[in-house]
Amino acid sequence: MTITGGCHCGAIRYRAEGEPLHHGLCHCTDCRRSAGAPMVGWAMYSRDAVTVTKGEAKIYKSSENGRRHFCAACGTGLFYVNEVVLPGMIDVQSATFDDSNIVPPQGHIQVAERISWMERAHELPTFDRYPPMES
Ligand SMILES: [Zn+2]
Ligand SMILES: [Zn+2]
Repeated sequence: MTITGGCHCGAIRYRAEGEPLHHGLCHCTDCRRSAGAPMVGWAMYSRDAVTVTKGEAKIYKSSENGRRHFCAACGTGLFYVNEVVLPGMIDVQSATFDDSNIVPPQGHIQVAERISWMERAHELPTFDRYPPMES
């Protein structure tokens, strides 16, 4: 399996070879603050399985050993590397895959830091687009 993806503006593109070692939805505070989103999907690969094919990501030191790679032009978060906790590995933000349906996640991680209302978010009413507007 080869997965391609990139940032929103297209300045950075990458290719990931093989199946991800793990795909988790992360609820940790660092991921949420960094992405500005209630959770972030991460597909983990061996570092040599992922190649940046276009552009160059900026690197942000988000914790003592955590490095978040993002597009400086559009702000999309792309990769996470932590050589102390996850040596030789790279996490890819799975929502940046060209086909985000290709690898379903296997679980929720870091739920100790989850926003309380996310535990039951799947029970909320759903709308194909937006809820009807009151007038
Ligand atoms: Zn971009
Ligand atoms: Zn996280």
